[in-house]
Amino acid sequence: MLVNKAYQFRIYPTKEQESLIAKTIGCSRFVFNHFLGRWNDAYQETGKGLTYHSCSAALTKLKKEFVWLKEVDSVALQSSLKNLADSYTRFFKKQNKTPRFKSKKNKVQSYTTKETNNNIAIVDSKIKLPKLGLVRFAKSREVEGRILHATVRRNPSGKYFVAILAETEVQPLEKTESSIGIDLGIADFAILSDGRKMDNNKFTSNMEKKRKREQRKLSRRALHAKKNGINLLDAKNYQKQKRKVARLHERVMNQRADFLNKLSTEIIKNHDIICIEDLNTKGMLRNHKLAKAISDVSWSAFVSKLEYKAKWYGKTIVKISRWFPSSQICSDCGHQDGKKSLEIREWTCPICHEHHDRDVNASKNILAEGLRTLVLA
Ligand SMILES: [Zn+2]
Repeated sequence: MLVNKAYQFRIYPTKEQESLIAKTIGCSRFVFNHFLGRWNDAYQETGKGLTYHSCSAALTKLKKEFVWLKEVDSVALQSSLKNLADSYTRFFKKQNKTPRFKSKKNKVQSYTTKETNNNIAIVDSKIKLPKLGLVRFAKSREVEGRILHATVRRNPSGKYFVAILAETEVQPLEKTESSIGIDLGIADFAILSDGRKMDNNKFTSNMEKKRKREQRKLSRRALHAKKNGINLLDAKNYQKQKRKVARLHERVMNQRADFLNKLSTEIIKNHDIICIEDLNTKGMLRNHKLAKAISDVSWSAFVSKLEYKAKWYGKTIVKISRWFPSSQICSDCGHQDGKKSLEIREWTCPICHEHHDRDVNASKNILAEGLRTLVLA
């Protein structure tokens, strides 16, 4: 099967390349904002938007007026237009609000460019990018397949990254004749029906604590600068601390993504059928106490990773209704023992006297229910 795989690498541009990246980001933003203005005007007058093609033609004329637009990767400018057209399409479909003007102050500064005639490629230990030429990068893994496009990004911490999307052929994994149930928890990220509990990545939470501490320090420095009438842009200590917080945030995000990737790959590799609760995250997020924990442990990201990997590698995901009382049933004898409040972590079945760990028992029930519905389907 042909699938799109995303890769991300840190890049180390030279000073010259850095300034060209900044210029390209600036020009892409200029083009986006310029045409967003025109688009907004058209929408106000006619109730309709413009089209990508009309804007693309107008861009050619615009380049005659603003010649500096010609200095950067022209595909990046077109991608910027495409991006605008797509946001407006989503707006007309009521999937999001009106597109907003891009600002220099946005956290993520990036531009996207497409592959044509091998202009994006890995050449030994460097990556070739349009206009930039060869850029040194941290090659953490091999890019497989045909490169489709690349996004060059500058983070608030001042680091540069490239995200690459490549189309590649994947082969189904060998069958293992094994199935598993997964209960998603808060204290433990995931509890498996084989009795294993996947720790909610303690390292991440330590790092998260550190990030919060440094964040508070940042607020104090902002306050201090304000008291002394110093503009934040000129407050050296504040700016230094700001970069530190951004770096920590990046590390937290990277660790989390790494954890979710490894866990989902391991599960897909070792099991043919994976049974999991159908989460109603929206409903749960309304409960504020749970909200932080849920967003922290990234359940929905995990489930979507399981889903696309299952599709790639020929495995099956079965989703159980969230109304299924997985924590009320004895997984040994099937006795339904009634509702159990969240603080009950273990219990003994009054019928068969089996002692249960609440979460492991739930994951066993999820597995049994998944296999049952699979037979019915
Ligand atoms: Zn029982």
